[in-house]
Amino acid sequence: MRYKMNNIKHCPIKGVTAVTVTSKFGPRRFYNRVEEKYESGHHNGIDIIGGDTIVAAYDGVVTKTRNGVKGYSTKNSCGNYVTIDHGNGYTTVYYHLKLDSIKVKKGDRVIAGQEIGLMGNTGHSISKHLHYGIKRNNVWINPEPFLNNTKNIENTSNIKETNNKEIIYVVKKGDNLTKIAKKYNTTWKAIYKKNKELIGDNPNLILVGWKLKI
Ligand SMILES: [Zn+2]
Repeated sequence: MRYKMNNIKHCPIKGVTAVTVTSKFGPRRFYNRVEEKYESGHHNGIDIIGGDTIVAAYDGVVTKTRNGVKGYSTKNSCGNYVTIDHGNGYTTVYYHLKLDSIKVKKGDRVIAGQEIGLMGNTGHSISKHLHYGIKRNNVWINPEPFLNNTKNIENTSNIKETNNKEIIYVVKKGDNLTKIAKKYNTTWKAIYKKNKELIGDNPNLILVGWKLKI
């Protein structure tokens, strides 16, 4: 049974504030018209439609991608996909992406809303859709309340406030934001936010000699 969700705040589909859920999280039974049989099991994410371009729902680091799945496959059931680690024990997954559409690679830092690929119909998928999943401490949880921001994965309690004593760090050869963040017990995201004007749109690119506020 499909239904519409409005007022989406953290959408994995670019530029939309409403999506149609074609299959919700939890136990389900559906007719697989490719294999012409009923299937049942636990659906560990939600299936949504309502756009084409898939984006990171939150800031994070890409932990895995797969490309090369051409169409229907039960062996590679997730199809072409991207997984992103957001810290605080949260990971999001984006399954069934279109062949050769993935724009990120393992280790890339991404910001919320950044394009990662295109919606597709690869893997264990019988029509074009996005399977969006969220894991908390390695357990699948229902992504629905996260879409409309009833729940939020962002927790800034581990980001140190340094309002009264600002540290300036000069970028050296081989540095990246994650490395620098580790030195100061903060997160790359916190540093990026403070220096966004200097760094610009690509947090993966910082130049030797730049003076960063920590
Ligand atoms: Zn699904």
